Amino acid sequence: MGTQPIVPSLRRAASRPQPAPPAAADAWQAMTAELKPPLTAEEAMAESYRCLLCGGPYAQAPCVVACPSEVDIPGFIAAIGEGDARRAGEIVFAHNPLGGTCARVCPTEVLCEAACVLVHEGQRAVDIGRLQRYATDALLAAPAPSPAPAPAGRRVAVVGAGPAGMACAARLAELGYAPTVFDERPEEGGLVRYAIAPYRELADPLPAERRRLEALGVRFVFGHRIDGPQALRALEAEFDAVFLGVGMGEDSSAGIEGEHLPGVWTSLPFIEAIKAGRLPEVGARVAVIGGNTAMDVAREAVRLGAREVTVLYRRTEAEMPAFRHEVEEAKAEGVRFSWLTAPLRFVGRDRLEAVECRYMRLGEPDASGRRRPEPVPGTEFLLPVDTAVEAIGQRPRAEFAQWIEGLRFEGGRIACDPATGQTDNPRYFAGGDDVNGGDTVVEAVRWGKAAAEGIDRYLRAGGSGR
Ligand SMILES: Cc1cc2nc3c(=O)[nH]c(=O)nc-3n(C[C@H](O)[C@H](O)[C@H](O)COP(=O)(O)OP(=O)(O)OC[C@H]3O[C@@H](n4cnc5c(N)ncnc54)[C@H](O)[C@@H]3O)c2cc1C
Repeated sequence: MGTQPIVPSLRRAASRPQPAPPAAADAWQAMTAELKPPLTAEEAMAESYRCLLCGGPYAQAPCVVACPSEVDIPGFIAAIGEGDARRAGEIVFAHNPLGGTCARVCPTEVLCEAACVLVHEGQRAVDIGRLQRYATDALLAAPAPSPAPAPAGRRVAVVGAGPAGMACAARLAELGYAPTVFDERPEEGGLVRYAIAPYRELADPLPAERRRLEALGVRFVFGHRIDGPQALRALEAEFDAVFLGVGMGEDSSAGIEGEHLPGVWTSLPFIEAIKAGRLPEVGARVAVIGGNTAMDVAREAVRLGAREVTVLYRRTEAEMPAFRHEVEEAKAEGVRFSWLTAPLRFVGRDRLEAVECRYMRLGEPDASGRRRPEPVPGTEFLLPVDTAVEAIGQRPRAEFAQWIEGLRFEGGRIACDPATGQTDNPRYFAGGDDVNGGDTVVEAVRWGKAAAEGIDRYLRAGGSGR
């Protein structure tokens, strides 16, 4: 009896023939097929001619205003139109050291492309993201310059080789500093490398972007975890200022019964396994719990061959913290949504067999301003599934507050001056997900650049406790 499934509807489903899962190679191909493939030279040229090259000496183009890293979009598009794709790439990288990555992962639909004046004229926006990709690919295809000797300037430590840390280090090197970037992982990129959906970016062009930084004089030390007060004291002894670009920590979990069952995942290990090529066997039915990250997980489950992928969300579609276009794209790929649905527990004997759920209704607004979901008694039901993934956000790396004198967290975010990234301990600066609670790559780049300027001002004013 011990091996009998305990969910009656699952027994019925098990007797139905299930479609064979896709071969691993097919699933990998589906997983890594790019949502936005590169433009050909002809396509890029034709698309560049659609740009009205707005803006001028007195007013920035609306697309530039909408770009957190303030890339000179009309400038690089004009260079493409003149047939000089490499110069176009240089223009992008002058503003954004992760210009190739952002070309692939930025939600351009709600940033630069939403601001494109063509939209106001009832036309399709210029395909800025793919033009930026065309430009940056052309530049990154050129042989990488050899690493420069570290500049003799004052020394800055950057903790975290994610987008915030890489952007901070790039700007510091441009300003004449010798930044050293430490990361506990073996590669650069942070969440871009191990969490962003592989159909947006698997790994390239991150290594080439890192090599460009090394050519500016940035040093990377991988496999080096800053794991406590002693490690920080060692940094303080060697460096004049420290930038914390450590992002957010592990996934939060719903804390409900049955999370230990095989078949129950949290989102980051699930996506990281996929990105490493260790594709999880998800079975035919997958439940994904959550909002924003849930969109990626659900679409990845479809590519892994699941036949029924259901997102459980405890509010309605209107409150869903995900980009509208991503919800629509997920629906178009066959993802189902069960709104006003909260998981109560994971059910199964030896492995996951179902999620017990309950319907909710919306009550008064809570602290976040969104209407609070309230349980509707008596509406419990079992959703038979083979796999469930909790995608409900990440925990802050609050341990740093115990390790660094004066460092404060407010609402799970490092408290700092938003203009300079300087924290309440003046030698420490911060930026990216650890201060905004989790946003986008291009926002992390913006924070990293701003903090580099803040560090420069601090050190030029004589700061440093060394
Ligand atoms: C599932 C998922 C999908 C996403 N999809 C997109 C997307 O499509 N587009 C988009 O723009 N954004 C996306 N984002 C958001 C984006 O990835 C982040 O906003 C961005 O990576 C934040 O950059 P960061 O440098 O602040 O932090 P991170 O990228 O988290 O980098 C932090 C780095 O610090 C290192 N680190 C942490 N602690 C230590 C320590 N103690 N010692 C040494 N090193 C340490 C980590 O190893 C990591 O490399 C997504 C996020 C998630 C979770």
